[in-house]
Parts: sequence; structure tokens; C-alpha cells
Amino acid sequence: MGAALGLLGDEWSLLIVRHAFIGATRYVDFKQRLAISDSVLTARLAALVDGGVLRRVRSTVAGRHEYVLSRSGLDLWQLLLGIWSWEQEHVDGQASRLPQMVHAGCGRRFRPVLCCAACATAAAVDDVEATFGPSGSFARSLPAGRNRRRPSGARSSAAAASTAEGPDMFPETMAIIGSRWSSATLGAAFLGATRFSEFERLLGAPPNIVADRLRSFVELGVLDQPRGTDGPDRSSYRLTVKGRALFGVAASLLAWGERWLPAPDGPAVVAAHRACGQAFRPELACGECRRMLRRDEVGIA
Ligand SMILES: [Zn+2]
Ligand SMILES: [Zn+2]
Repeated sequence: MGAALGLLGDEWSLLIVRHAFIGATRYVDFKQRLAISDSVLTARLAALVDGGVLRRVRSTVAGRHEYVLSRSGLDLWQLLLGIWSWEQEHVDGQASRLPQMVHAGCGRRFRPVLCCAACATAAAVDDVEATFGPSGSFARSLPAGRNRRRPSGARSSAAAASTAEGPDMFPETMAIIGSRWSSATLGAAFLGATRFSEFERLLGAPPNIVADRLRSFVELGVLDQPRGTDGPDRSSYRLTVKGRALFGVAASLLAWGERWLPAPDGPAVVAAHRACGQAFRPELACGECRRMLRRDEVGIA
């Protein structure tokens, strides 16, 4: 999990993967489409090749090479679709800003629905029983060497004015999965933490860090503080509708990490679908025709 977040918990990396899905292969393709500096692009491409997401192959043009998605890279389509869908539905301004997606299977514009792969029925956060597995703990799930915060929602006017995509394509997703403790805070909420002390214990983080992450999640509208008779309870937090909808993104990221970057001592999280009792593996169905989505059936309108 930590390896997956270290590799993908960075918006440039996700944007590079996104453009690789829609036809960018050469360095200049990425450079033209993204408002990115040469040093950052070079470093991210190298990290994605190192992490096995992209393959560097010889081009038909002598002396050049291209970047193509590996099998693990292609397998990121569910995560990208989940992020796109969540930002569209739950983040202000994104519905008009992000492209529409079309399901080739039914020809309609759609939103994906998270399902259990074993029984092919819809599954939300409450339908899945999850606990830490052998390699799971929040100390382990923290990406190595990463401790930066992104300003939440701040967009530079230069990036907004340009047609190239800047590092603000998925601003709120990145505020949540792109910083050291935030993804762990979300994971703790999905594992049922509601009291400040529970977050503190599950994260094993100093109280000021826990307080800071919880405050930013409340600002993002991912958590709220239930009201008692005398106002909001400042020590209790619960996932909002917007927060619960992030379950698909978290489950896809976790499943991808387990498939492609497995820990030698077993999975980080063991999850079962309550309705069928099988191990929970996330899959996406078309919200219109309800058929399971395949990567080659998803297109931009
Ligand atoms: Zn099931
Ligand atoms: Zn469909």
C-alpha cells in the first residue's frame, strides 16, 4: 500500500498515466499536454518506469523511445475512472470541467458503480467488512520519504488559463491520497474510527498531525462532526456522503497495490463482502446498463 501511494500519490504521476491511456507515448506528447517542467516530467517518467507502470520502448524513429503502459499500468483504469467519477460528482466545479465518459457497451454517458467482483452486485462501504491483514498497519501504509502538503483547492491562474493540464486536475483527490498522513486518516475512517482518540491510536501519529488532518477533512466535507444538543461534538467525526463515496477510490487503489506490489508477508487489508461472504474485490459496473465495465469499453464523449 505504501509502495502504491509512493508511486501514484502524486498528481503528476496520475496525469501522466491518464495521458498514456489517451494516446501520449513520446516525451514531447506529455510535455505538450501537461503544464509540467522538464525536470519534473523526466523524474516522474523514470519513477513510473522503475515502478513498472510504464515501459520504455524503442521508437520507430531511430534513437528515440516511447513510453507505453505495462500490464500494471493498464490495470489502473479502474482507479482513474473512480477518481474521475468522484471528482465529477462531489467536487465543486468539476462536473463542467472534466470530460464526460461513454460506455461503448450501451452507448450512453455513464457513472461507474462499485461492485463486488464475486457476486456482481453493488457494494458500498457498509457492505464490506475490512480489517488489517498480515502486512497492514498505518506505519506500513505511509509512502516512504513523502511528507508534503498540498494546498487544498488552490488553483494557479496560470494553470487555469492554459489548455495544458496542471497539477490541479483532481485537486481534492490529491489533497486526500497525495499526502503522507491523509490517506491513513481516510483508511482509519473506513475502518470505523470516529473518536479523536481512535484516529490517534490507529494512525500512531502525534496529536497535532491527527488534529490537522481531521480539520482538513472536515474542510473538504469528507468528515463532519455530528451535532449534539449543544452544538457539534468536537471530538467525534463521521464520514459524510462525499467521504463514503471515496470508498471506490480507496478500494481500487488498495486492490491495485495488492495485485502489482504485494507485500511478502501478505495483504494489508482483508476484506469480505457481507452479502455473499466472499473476499471483496472491487469491480466497476456501468450505472446505466449495469453491465460490468471493461477497459476497452470506456471512452471519452
Ligand atoms: Zn459479493
Ligand atoms: Zn452501459
